[in-house]
Formats: sequence, structure tokens, C-alpha cells
Amino acid sequence: MIKQFFKTVFLVDLLQGMALTFRYNWTKKIITLQYPDKEKWVPYERFRGLHYQAVDEEGELKCVACELCARICPAGVITIEGYEDEKGNRRPSVYTMDLHRCAYCGLCVEACPEDAINHGAGYEFAGFKREDAVMTLDKLLKNKANEKDPEKMGTVVSARFVRDKDGIKVIEDGKKRYRWW
Ligand code: SF4
Ligand code: SF4
Repeated sequence: MIKQFFKTVFLVDLLQGMALTFRYNWTKKIITLQYPDKEKWVPYERFRGLHYQAVDEEGELKCVACELCARICPAGVITIEGYEDEKGNRRPSVYTMDLHRCAYCGLCVEACPEDAINHGAGYEFAGFKREDAVMTLDKLLKNKANEKDPEKMGTVVSARFVRDKDGIKVIEDGKKRYRWW
């Protein structure tokens, strides 16, 4: 009882807490990621980020507009219109994903027989306009695939924060790379 009284009067718990905070601040290595100004995280290969459309070795779209991805999507995210190109291949003239509704469940990726639609490494897709989250075929072709190199995935890489007419970007410069742990 008396011990508790003195602890309360002299703020012992508060001082112990502050001592712990100062000890961590000055004696332990700080591991805060300097995002977005100086560094960014490189996700693992299994990461389910922003979708992208893949192309084959000749640079041709892999998508054959079969619409399996659109049919299996539980949220009605994908809209496709197909056509037949001059070589007789079926291709999408329209392939749009409204990511406002996407749950990143990966069912579209699983269903695709051509490995055309995939989850990629993108995680910076906040925007100022509604259209920013609507992915057209052009945007899906530009989105980045996941890192495949085991030396690079899961690392922190140096980067630059850029604001220009196209919006805000955090660009990797690759000058420095390290593992967090
Ligand atoms: S990840 Fe899931 S919710 Fe998103 S488009 Fe694919 S199937 Fe639809
Ligand atoms: S992305 Fe795959 S599943 Fe979807 S339409 Fe193209 S080929 Fe078919």
C-alpha cells in the first residue's frame, strides 16, 4: 500500500516508461523505412499488387479475350470486348478493370488459361480522380510485374519522390539496396 503510494506520487511508472523509450531511441538501430522520400519496399514474388497484362516473347498480348477472368470475378470488376486480328487470333479491343470494386482475391489470375492477367508489384495506386483506379488495357500493359530475383525481392531500395504533370511517383534508383533484418 505504502509502496504503491510512493510509486504514484513520484510518477515511477511514467519515468520507467520514458526511460525505456529513450533507451530504444539512443541505443537501438532505427529501422524506420524512409518512404516515400528516400526508400521503397520491393515486394515478394507472391505479392498480390496492381494487376498487369503480360506479353509473349514477340511482344504480343497473351490475352485471347476468352472472358474467363470476367466470368469468375465475384465483384464484376472486369469488362472485355473481343475481336479477331489479321492473324486470326482473338484479342481484346477493350479490357478494363474498375479497381474500386476489386478484392485482390486472385481468382481472375487463377482462371486465366494464358497467364495473361497477373498480380504485379504495384502498391502505389491512390489517386485524386475516380478514373485513376480504372485500369484500361494501356495502363495494364505498363504496370510492373513482381520481382523474380530472390536477391532483390523483400529488400529496401533507394528511391526518389517525384511530383510532375502525370501525378506523384516514387521511382527506384537502385543505388542502395539492403535487407531490413
Ligand atoms: S482479384 Fe478478384 S475481385 Fe479483383 S478482378 Fe480479380 S477476380 Fe475480381
Ligand atoms: S486475361 Fe486471361 S482469362 Fe481474361 S480474357 Fe484474357 S486470356 Fe481470358
